[in-house]
Amino acid sequence: MTEEIFIGKDSEAQLKALLDNRAFKKVVVLVDENTQRHCYPLVKAILPVGHHVIQIQSGEENKTLATCEHVWRQLTELGLDRWALVVNLGGGVLTDLGGFCASLYKRGIRFLNVPTTLLAQVDASVGGKTGVDFMGFKNHLGVFQEPVAVWVNPQFLQTVDQRQIKSGYAEMIKHWLIMDAAMFREQRYVGLFTEDWTALIEHSINIKSKVVTADPLENGLRKILNFGHTLGHAVESYFLEKPGQMLLHGEAIAVGMVCEAWLSVQRGMLPIEELEQLESFIFSIYEKVSLPETDITQISERCLHDKKNSGATINCTLLQKIGEAVYDQPITLSEAQSALRYYQTL
Ligand code: NAD
Repeated sequence: MTEEIFIGKDSEAQLKALLDNRAFKKVVVLVDENTQRHCYPLVKAILPVGHHVIQIQSGEENKTLATCEHVWRQLTELGLDRWALVVNLGGGVLTDLGGFCASLYKRGIRFLNVPTTLLAQVDASVGGKTGVDFMGFKNHLGVFQEPVAVWVNPQFLQTVDQRQIKSGYAEMIKHWLIMDAAMFREQRYVGLFTEDWTALIEHSINIKSKVVTADPLENGLRKILNFGHTLGHAVESYFLEKPGQMLLHGEAIAVGMVCEAWLSVQRGMLPIEELEQLESFIFSIYEKVSLPETDITQISERCLHDKKNSGATINCTLLQKIGEAVYDQPITLSEAQSALRYYQTL
């Protein structure tokens, strides 16, 4: 990965040095109404005098081309040229959308991610995936483009509610499941009761960085990061169309991880005791999500649009054991349905 990650006690000084040295001609900060209120006051003084602020509406339902158009119009009205910098101050919706807007504006201007939710700090802001949802499909339009740097400051988490913290925690669990069995075993007894997130966040970012550095464009190894996401995204996009019942990203991924771990057992890979450990950890944190039997077929069919597929084959990442994942495992629609039905029996 070429992006720099600033985390820990010297991170603010590193950020200041980057902003001073690079001589960006104009700096625009992208916020939503929540990060404007809670996070912007913490960064305002670090940013160059005379920076501009653009606000978008929070929420996955606003991760759309219409919001991008609003941003592009404002960038144009502000007269931003290619020597400008966009600072994405927000959760994963904002860093995904802001990175996408910056990458397309005038064929690409630089952007800096300042993730403010746990999910964005351990996952969304790192690794160069940007994008928006389209026609009900998650991240259907997007490009790979790395930010110039990511500034990770756990102080922002103080105003993030517990449901959102849990959502981010799902991606941390995923990192341990695919790459670090010892950490999984240690953390399943600690759960969310952590006083200082810095070390855990750094550990998670290191796992993601290692994988992304080896395979930046997701031709192979990077697909292991999609563990839980084939069925998880199907469930998430299903709920996206049910107003008032929306699931958070990590909550959907928690469902996906149980389903895909179960499929791993069916393939004779993951030992059943490890599936049980995974389930008890997941259900100690996340409530069970109810999926109506009449909609199981419809939910599973959403897997056909997954970006990891080749043609009509659904490619899934499964677990060989806790701490080791295998990618490009073809599954059938009927297996996807069985996995969703298994989840319902728990
Ligand atoms: P989010 O961006 O919707 O943020 C959650 C909510 O918290 C929003 O209402 C936001 O305004 C608010 N918020 C953000 N920071 C806050 C703070 N410090 N204090 C108070 N409120 C705050 O949700 P998320 O979970 O951060 O991100 C989910 C998105 O990330 C999804 O769209 C998902 O597809 C994407 N994602 C991307 C990648 C990637 O590699 N690019 C990886 C994982 C997830």
